[in-house]
Amino acid sequence: MKKVCVVGTGYVGLVTGACLSDLGNEVVCLDIVEAKIERLRAGEMPIYEPGLEPLVRRNVSKGRLRFTTDYAEAVRDADYCFIAVNTPSKAGGDAADMSYVERAAASIAEHVTRDVIIINKSTMPVGSGDLVSSIAKKNLRDPRLTISVVSNPEFLREGSAVHDFLQPDRVVLGSYDPAAARRVGELYIPLRAPIVITDLYTAEMIKYASNAFLATKISFINEIARICDLLGADVKEVAAGMGYDKRIGRAFLDAGLGYGGSCFPKDVKALAHMADEAGLHPQLLDAVMKINKDQRHVVIDKLQAALGEALAGKIVAVLGLAFKDNTDDMREAPSIDIIQWLTEEGAEVRAFDPVATETAQVALPGRAVTYCEDEYEAAENADAIVVLTEWKQFLEIDMERLRRQMRDPEKGAVLVDGRNLYDPEEMTRLGFHYQGIGRGNGRRRSVLSNGAAPSSVERDERA
Ligand code: NAD
Repeated sequence: MKKVCVVGTGYVGLVTGACLSDLGNEVVCLDIVEAKIERLRAGEMPIYEPGLEPLVRRNVSKGRLRFTTDYAEAVRDADYCFIAVNTPSKAGGDAADMSYVERAAASIAEHVTRDVIIINKSTMPVGSGDLVSSIAKKNLRDPRLTISVVSNPEFLREGSAVHDFLQPDRVVLGSYDPAAARRVGELYIPLRAPIVITDLYTAEMIKYASNAFLATKISFINEIARICDLLGADVKEVAAGMGYDKRIGRAFLDAGLGYGGSCFPKDVKALAHMADEAGLHPQLLDAVMKINKDQRHVVIDKLQAALGEALAGKIVAVLGLAFKDNTDDMREAPSIDIIQWLTEEGAEVRAFDPVATETAQVALPGRAVTYCEDEYEAAENADAIVVLTEWKQFLEIDMERLRRQMRDPEKGAVLVDGRNLYDPEEMTRLGFHYQGIGRGNGRRRSVLSNGAAPSSVERDERA
């Protein structure tokens, strides 16, 4: 049984610790936030992540998973110490704030009593492995001990984190100590995933390049969506038609409100900053960030087009607050900017999210938002409904009932679908003034109403 310590018990650390214990390792998860560790010890999850609670419960009961705030206890016997602490943007800047990593590395080194491998799982700028290595060496109590550093970036997605950790597309390990990288690889053998072993800097870069590429796909399709709105094409069908091409792929071509969350925004910024510092102007990354920032405002533009410039006094029902479905994470959620703009305009906001109400209240302090129990309550007396998160349960809504909740269901039922969840023709038939993102903005003529056969894409979507 391998002994593993995971430092930082957030989305990545807790999932890593729980999954590694499920693979048969003895794992101690450590955090400096006592309340978090107390909740975990009491069997409560500090975050919402599908499948996590039973996984934690099973491994705690088998004695393979523990939680602590005590570095001495966590690190003492460990063969492997994962660093999974946060690396946010520096306050008021673009670079990654490495202070949490630096503290974690120093604390690990102060408490090791045997040779250990430090594994950098947090997303860290290229070169951070050297930083962690030098901090660790400086803080070692016993100079006879050796610490190796391996970069092992994480690619899991919130909302499917347990699944993604246990079924990764690949495991990336980078080190200047190939034997240490191979030993870390042993932890992942049961997952039967391709293991890519590189040098330290290359592994660190693979993570940033991967996130930047996915963010680029999102901004690309959002720009196409804006062109579609002007020219009368439907971006959903465009994406489906593009996605059949294996060189392109369908993933991350969903037009909407742009990327949010704790990773893409800060990682694209940090990569651009690294390029700038190294003397290269990152033109593409700058455009990706600019498009993403502007995309959120599309919701306000569409509301103003439907309700008139002045939104003061209008009631807007917001469906979905989390930055994506299946999570309660509000970090960099488009809903934060959109609700801020709405309330600044004087609109009244009634919001509903299946799991993120508590985190939203923290993320939106001082904003006059009425948090509702369900979608129908949010829609009460509303002049417009806006969908900001792609929760699958929003597809189950009784749309007729939702419309009847609104202030003027017959003539004034404005629906701005920021995630393209609904079929424009169906919503129009139900009596909504429907606006999606890049759905042709009402200019599109229905293929079916022209008497033509449905396209193969339409047939596939219905299957
Ligand atoms: P998080 O904020 O949810 O969790 C970080 C945890 O580290 C917190 O509980 C915090 O209290 C703890 N911490 C901070 N300093 C500490 C210290 N010195 N000692 C012990 N604990 C400490 O962050 P997260 O979302 O889990 O992300 C962690 C890292 O993983 C980041 O670098 C992130 O970019 C990367 N990452 C995140 C995701 C994701 O989907 N969230 C995916 C891939 C990679």
